[in-house]
Amino acid sequence: MISVKRIHKSYGKLHVLKDVSLNVEQGEVVVMIGPSGSGKSTLLRCMNYLEQIQEGSIEIEGKPIGLIQKNGKLVEMPQKELDKVRSEVGMVFQNFNLFPHVSVLENVMMAPMTVKKTKREEAEKLARELLRKVGLAEKADMYPDQLSGGQKQRVAIARALAMKPKVMLFDEPTSALDPELVGEVLTVMKQLAAEGMTMVVVTHEMGFAREVADRVVVMDGGTLIEDGTPEKIFTAPDQPRTQAFLSKVL
Ligand code: ADP
Ligand code: MG
Repeated sequence: MISVKRIHKSYGKLHVLKDVSLNVEQGEVVVMIGPSGSGKSTLLRCMNYLEQIQEGSIEIEGKPIGLIQKNGKLVEMPQKELDKVRSEVGMVFQNFNLFPHVSVLENVMMAPMTVKKTKREEAEKLARELLRKVGLAEKADMYPDQLSGGQKQRVAIARALAMKPKVMLFDEPTSALDPELVGEVLTVMKQLAAEGMTMVVVTHEMGFAREVADRVVVMDGGTLIEDGTPEKIFTAPDQPRTQAFLSKVL
């Protein structure tokens, strides 16, 4: 479903992703862990083409995202195609990124209407269904400001799902939440995983990783240093750097 092949990404002179490869199968839940600054967010952002890579390739279901080969060179794909592949990759951020000036319902309706030209009636029906799914049907007419952090994040998940993505990327979705609100967001994510959604989740919630992840990958210094089952990574990691990281967070 996701194929990241030998990618490199730099910000100016800062080489952030160094020859990173990662395959994610359909229905798989991959949790990505690793120290701050190791490149986890950058890798997720590249998978959604929020960031451009300089080398390598990223494919979603066999289709390149963002850059295509043309006459032996990597060039940006036409905007229409880009919108299409991008709509297949939902993303949820640490800080929710909801539109503050419109209602919860409108937040969830907006992307299908603008990007997919879904009719208002249909978009509203879907949005209400999704809000029900994340347990927020009764908050449809509120504004983001009127919600708790956990509720905002569940709206953000509903909003991403409204595009019917094939893949969901989560970048520390619970890191900005008060501890008592973490569970309600993880519950929604677990439910999504159980329904077979393909997911890549950057998180420090090791309980979630143990319980839900099919695989855990460890990022350090811009490379993926380890890849294995949660059992393996948490009990007998091969890499000393994985052990060092885990000893700080567990
Ligand atoms: P992580 O998510 O693992 O904490 P990031 O992917 O956010 O790591 O960052 C990896 C490195 O790239 C860090 O050194 C960070 O400072 C740098 N970085 C991230 N985003 C940018 C940016 N937009 N411009 C320049 N440097 C960046
Ligand atoms: Mg990050």
